[in-house]
Amino acid sequence: MPHPKDERTFVIIKPDGVQRALVGEIIKRYERTGLKLVGVKFGVAEEKKFWDHYNKDDAWFLKKGTKIAEDKKAAGLPVEKEPIEYGKDIIRQLVKFMTSGPVLMMVWEGNQAAAVVRKITGDTEPATSDVGTIRGDLTVDSYGIAAVDDRAVRNLIHCSENVDEAKREIPIWFTDKEMTEYRLVGEQILYDVNLDGILE
Ligand code: ADP
Repeated sequence: MPHPKDERTFVIIKPDGVQRALVGEIIKRYERTGLKLVGVKFGVAEEKKFWDHYNKDDAWFLKKGTKIAEDKKAAGLPVEKEPIEYGKDIIRQLVKFMTSGPVLMMVWEGNQAAAVVRKITGDTEPATSDVGTIRGDLTVDSYGIAAVDDRAVRNLIHCSENVDEAKREIPIWFTDKEMTEYRLVGEQILYDVNLDGILE
């Protein structure tokens, strides 16, 4: 049985995060929780990899597409497709966005890594994400403007939704050898059962 502190999750700083020069600020927010960085890659990724990565199902297309059709109607724009097709368009737009410039891919490790990263990142739509989260504090995009302009929401980050998603996503982007197993000195205060050796 792996120990809970060995949980891993996958994060991408999207092209808007790199272009806004927010790489350092974003890494700082994850790093200061005590999570450990075990893998990093920077560059322009292949489109095909993003199609593997964003393997959404029909329920997701329908839910997202219905919202887009509503947003278009609210903006006085014509609704010309079935909602599910608008949902599928998101992935096409997203792949275009994700390959428009370099991104930073990371693997973070620690107790509840996936949930902690989700919490710090914030909800998908930056305009309504909580204050204090990366998406809530550092950008302004919304579903409404994305629907008007037929594009993906630019929300700085991708992060795995849960451990199972992380287990599927990490091997798409990293081999085992590209991740590093090591100890951080600070991990002792987070995880050691007996905190011997602190007092002199
Ligand atoms: P998250 O990235 O928070 O896990 P989803 O998995 O629901 O969110 O969506 C994946 C990505 O697709 C989002 O991060 C965003 O860039 C884009 N996206 C999601 N919903 C919409 C939408 N209604 N319109 C445009 N882009 C969207």
